[in-house]
Amino acid sequence: MTYRSKEKPAMYVPRKGCRFCIDKDLTIDYKDVKGLQKFISNYGRIESRKRTGNCVKHQRKVALAIKRARILALLPYVNK
Ligand SMILES: [Zn+2]
Repeated sequence: MTYRSKEKPAMYVPRKGCRFCIDKDLTIDYKDVKGLQKFISNYGRIESRKRTGNCVKHQRKVALAIKRARILALLPYVNK
């Protein structure tokens, strides 16, 4: 899992480290639909930490933000 290519990664390449820890300017916001969509699958499920590469702290924040966005109907619960 240490493989990292110089090319643009094809969708889900595990990165080293959490993107929120690396980039302090990145924020997790339930109103930021575009940003949260990176963390849900095609079927509307929240992606696992293995997929997103987030740390525990930020993955929990992302999950919470997605759940809030779902309540506000910004994100789907299921996507068929
Ligand atoms: Zn983090």
